[in-house]
Amino acid sequence: MRYNYFNKPLKEQNKMADKRKVGTVCVQGGYTPGNGEPRQIPIIQSTTFKYATGEAMGKLFDLEASGYFYSRLQNPTCDTVAAKICELEGGSAAMLTSSGQAASFYSIFNIASCGDHIVSSASIYGGTYNLFAVTMKRMGIEFTFVSPDCSDEELEKAFKPNTKAVFGETIANPALTVFDIERFADAAHKHGVPLIVDNTFATPVNCRPFEFGADIVTHSTTKYMDGHGAAVGGCIVDSGKFDWTKYPDKFPGLCTPDDSYHGVTYTERFGLSGAYITKATAQLMRDFGSVQSPQNAFILNLGLESLHVRMKRHCENAERIAKYLENHEKIAWVNYPSLESSPYYDLAKKYLPNGSCGVVSFGVKGGREAAQAFMGKLKIAAIETHVADARSCCLHPASTTHRQMSDEELTNAGVPSDLVRLSVGLEDADDLIADIEQALN
Ligand SMILES: *Cc1c(COP(=O)(O)O)cnc(C)c1O
Repeated sequence: MRYNYFNKPLKEQNKMADKRKVGTVCVQGGYTPGNGEPRQIPIIQSTTFKYATGEAMGKLFDLEASGYFYSRLQNPTCDTVAAKICELEGGSAAMLTSSGQAASFYSIFNIASCGDHIVSSASIYGGTYNLFAVTMKRMGIEFTFVSPDCSDEELEKAFKPNTKAVFGETIANPALTVFDIERFADAAHKHGVPLIVDNTFATPVNCRPFEFGADIVTHSTTKYMDGHGAAVGGCIVDSGKFDWTKYPDKFPGLCTPDDSYHGVTYTERFGLSGAYITKATAQLMRDFGSVQSPQNAFILNLGLESLHVRMKRHCENAERIAKYLENHEKIAWVNYPSLESSPYYDLAKKYLPNGSCGVVSFGVKGGREAAQAFMGKLKIAAIETHVADARSCCLHPASTTHRQMSDEELTNAGVPSDLVRLSVGLEDADDLIADIEQALN
């Protein structure tokens, strides 16, 4: 089922994954044109695909043959870009979604339904927290949130007999905590469930969660992968390593026949490498339709072509700024995982040896008013509710995204009222530092 435009199975392309380095995959992964074929990936702007006989088409509907029939389920441009991200993460299969939110939702709803339970890190993106704690709760899926720094005992206690997965973010947005992937993977596997990791902030350039035992990776491609603030999108990648068939009672959707596809059993027909993504495409995309447009996939691919170059620069700039801020008399504190003073420095060294991300948070002395006044004086970094863009931007959560909270609630939530979140862009670091300096003065 997972074929790209020139009908090369993903698995075959991924055989090259071990041999190619991440930079080469960023530029060339997912698409290898033949003689006289377009150098850039074609945008297949077509909702539907033609077949000669009804019989041939019927086979597609029974998942007996592979091919495209309707872009709500699959589109060749999107699959080409998914194949690149799949290879970047070292996975077995991948799919694009319309947004990061859709990727987070599908990644869990594909293996959990009403009456099930999920263990999630409490340090996650606010939108994901809302999706889990409010919307998916209304669907009958219960979440237990644990601190990423919780004790082994607390983590153990979070599991229930109906737990179906564990979820966390490599580097959490906006708290910048670093997730101990190996530790959470071990706990998940001990309980016979997969670990799902949102790898948005690190990107596969800085961390490949599958190498540390994660089973499924999700992305908001809206952030560094696109990297230019141009296209909202998401992606789900499966490692193909989690053995669903060992726990058929836990994962009946993957291990028993699907009546909506003539009784196909995903793990039997598609193996461990393809079952999870095929089910998410064939069932969830069919029914919810959160597809990425081929246009957006094309824009995303342009971003991916320079991801390895941009991540390096984002991290260099952010590190310089974090160090500068740390030594500034008007700054109360700085939070950046690659700083030696960070409580996550050791985890960052292990999981993010080449750099973490471009986001730095810090407190301005003088609290809420000082933070707001400082931001108003910045000339290069714009005030936006966005991160991971080529252009530097900043946000004061206490007066915007979290403005309904009291100062005490803000402190408890890990976003004190003096916190400024700075997403460091690709500009010249000298200019960024000069801008911060004049704003602080
Ligand atoms: C932004 C973000 C999301 C949500 O992605 P959208 O593309 O905005 O839907 C999910 N996880 C993380 C870590 C994010 O930063």
